[in-house]
Amino acid sequence: MNKNPVVIIGAGPAGLAAGYELIKNKISPVILERSNSVGGISRTESYKGFHFDIGGHRFFSKNDAINRQWQEMLGPDFLQVKRLSRIYYQKKFFNYPLRPVNAFLNLGPIESFLILLSYCRASVSPQPEEISFEEWVINRFGERLYLTFFKTYTEKVWGIPCKEIRADWAAQRIKGLSLFVAVSNALFGGGQKAKSLVEQFYYPKLGPGMMWQRFKDRIIAGGGEVRFNSEVFSIRHENGTITAVEYSNGTKAEKINAENFISSTPISYLVKLLKPQPPAEVLESAEQLAYRAFIIVVLIVDRPELFPDQWLYVHSPRVQVGRIQNFKNWSRSMVPDQSKTSIGMEYFCNVNDRTWKMADKELVAMACREMEEMGFCQVSEVIDSFVVRQSHAYPVYDSTYKKNLLNIRNYLDNFNNLQTIGRSGMHRYNNMDHSMETGILAAKNCYGEHHDVWAVNEEKSYLEEDRPVKEIPVVPEKVLIRAFARIDKFAFAVALGTICGLLVSSATLWIISRGGDVLNSHLRLLAQYFIGYTVTVKGAFIAFGYSFFWGFLFGWFFAYLRNLFLAVYIFRIKRKVELMSLKDFFDNF
Ligand SMILES: Cc1cc2nc3c(=O)[nH]c(=O)nc-3n(C[C@H](O)[C@H](O)[C@H](O)COP(=O)(O)OP(=O)(O)OC[C@H]3O[C@@H](n4cnc5c(N)ncnc54)[C@H](O)[C@@H]3O)c2cc1C
Repeated sequence: MNKNPVVIIGAGPAGLAAGYELIKNKISPVILERSNSVGGISRTESYKGFHFDIGGHRFFSKNDAINRQWQEMLGPDFLQVKRLSRIYYQKKFFNYPLRPVNAFLNLGPIESFLILLSYCRASVSPQPEEISFEEWVINRFGERLYLTFFKTYTEKVWGIPCKEIRADWAAQRIKGLSLFVAVSNALFGGGQKAKSLVEQFYYPKLGPGMMWQRFKDRIIAGGGEVRFNSEVFSIRHENGTITAVEYSNGTKAEKINAENFISSTPISYLVKLLKPQPPAEVLESAEQLAYRAFIIVVLIVDRPELFPDQWLYVHSPRVQVGRIQNFKNWSRSMVPDQSKTSIGMEYFCNVNDRTWKMADKELVAMACREMEEMGFCQVSEVIDSFVVRQSHAYPVYDSTYKKNLLNIRNYLDNFNNLQTIGRSGMHRYNNMDHSMETGILAAKNCYGEHHDVWAVNEEKSYLEEDRPVKEIPVVPEKVLIRAFARIDKFAFAVALGTICGLLVSSATLWIISRGGDVLNSHLRLLAQYFIGYTVTVKGAFIAFGYSFFWGFLFGWFFAYLRNLFLAVYIFRIKRKVELMSLKDFFDNF
C-alpha cells in the first residue's frame, strides 16, 4: 500500500503552516480537519453577512519570515489597523496603559489621592513574599489600583481568585519588555520596538479566516488535501512508530497511513487517541491538563457606531462580560450594512460550567441586559444575535501543568514519526505566529532537517536569532549597565578633592620654581577664598587642604545628585515597563 508522506491533524494556523511548508518543498500532505472550516480558534465565522472572530485576532509577529508570508498571502487585503482598546470601568473609558491625567479625570481627586496613597504605602513597605498574583500586583501598583483595575478582570478570565494565581506564572506571562530594552529605547529613541510597544497591527479585510482560506487554497493548488468533517478518533502505533490514524468522515470510519504524522489536536486528547493506550500515569497527566473555554455572543445592534475601540476590557464586577469586540472597527468589511454594528460579548468559562450550559437564548438575554446596563444601547436596539462556544481556548498554567506536560512529552518522545504542534497541541500560550512557526519546523523535520519544535516561544522570547536587525539593542547591555552604575559618593568625593588639591598645590609649587610674576599675582587672589594662602611652599599645603575640601564637597554632591536623578529615572522607566508588561498580560487573554 502506498504511504502518504505526511498526515496533519487539524487545519488551524499550525496545521496549515505545516502543510504549506511541505507543499513548498514538493511534498503533498493530507490535512484532516474535524470542522467544516479552516483556522481553528483563529477562524472567522459568518452570520447573515456579518463576519466575526472567536475573540479578536491581531496579526503581529517578531518573526520577519512569518510577516512576509502573511503579506504574501493577502497583499492589499491585509489591512494595517491603528489600535485603540481601552478599559471600561464605572461607565468611563480609561486609557491603557493608564495615563495619569486620564485616570485622574475619570476617577476624581479623592479616589486618585487614595490610589496614590496606597501606591506609596506599597512602595515603602511591600509585602515580603510574592506568592500570588495578587501580591505581585499590589507590590507594584498598590492595593487600591489592584482592586480597581486588575482583580475583577483577571478573575473573570481565570474564574479563580487572584490569590490562587501564582506570581511566578504571572511573571512568566509578563515579560514582553525588559528594563534594559526600555532604558535603551528611552535613551536612543525607537531603536527597537519591543512587542509591548506595538500600537498597530495587521488584520485581514474579512477577518483572520481569510488568511487561512488562502493557505488552504495554496495547499490544494500545490497537490495537498484538506479533508473537512474528518475527526481523528484513533491513532495506531507499533514499536514506536505511528502506523495509521482513523477518522470519521461523518458517515463512516476511514483509515489513513503515512510516513510522518503531525498533530495540532490538544495534547491531552492526543494521548487518549493512541492505540494501544499509553501507561496509566500518562493518561492521568493528560486528564489533569486543564483548559479555559470561551463563549462569544454576537449582537447585531441597529446603530452605526457604538464606540471607537476595536475592543474594550470590562473591569466592572457588575457584569459578567470580560471583553467586548467591535468588529466594524477592525475592518469595515466585517459588517455588510454600515448602519449596523456587530458586537462580540466575550464570556470566559469552563466547559460544562453554568455559563457554558446556558441556552443560547439565555446567553443572548444576558448579553443584551449587560449592554444596556453599561449604557451602550437599549435591549430593543439589538436586532439579531449569534452564539459560538469555544473549548480549549486557553491552556491553564496551574501548579501541576509543568509536571503533567513533561510526563506526556517524555512518553510521546518514544515515537519516531509523531510531532505535536500549535497552541493546544503543545499546551502553550502560542499565538498564531508561534503556532505557525511550530508547524513550519515540524514540516522541515519531515524532510530531513532537525529542529526543536518545543524551543518556539519557550520561556522568554522565541528564536532570538530571527529577530529583525532593528531589534538588536543599539548599545551592548554591559555598556548601559556600566553607565547606569551608582557612583560611590565617598570615593568620588575623595578622588575629586585629591585632584583639585594636587592641581592647586602643584600650580603654586610650579610658580615658585619658575619665580614668574604674572601668574603669581593671579594665584595670590586665591587668598580671598583660602584664608592664610600665599604663593609659598607652606601656601601650597594650605591650598591643598582648601582645594581638597571644596573638591570633596562638590564631588559628594555631584555623585549624590547623579545617583538620585538616575534612581528616579530608572524608577519611572521600571514602572512604565511594568505597566506596559501588564498590558501585554491582558492582551494575551
Ligand atoms: C480569545 C482568543 C484570542 C486570541 N487572539 C489572538 C491574537 O490576537 N493574535 C494571535 O496571534 N493569536 C491569538 N490567539 C491565539 C490563536 O487563536 C492560536 O494561537 C491559534 O489559533 C492556534 O492555532 P493551532 O493551529 O495551534 O490550533 P487551533 O486554532 O486550535 O486549531 C486546531 C485545529 O485542529 C482541529 N482538530 C482538533 N482535534 C482534531 C481531531 N481529533 N481531528 C481533526 N481535527 C481536529 C480543530 O478543529 C482546529 O481546526 C487568540 C486565542 C484566543 C482563544
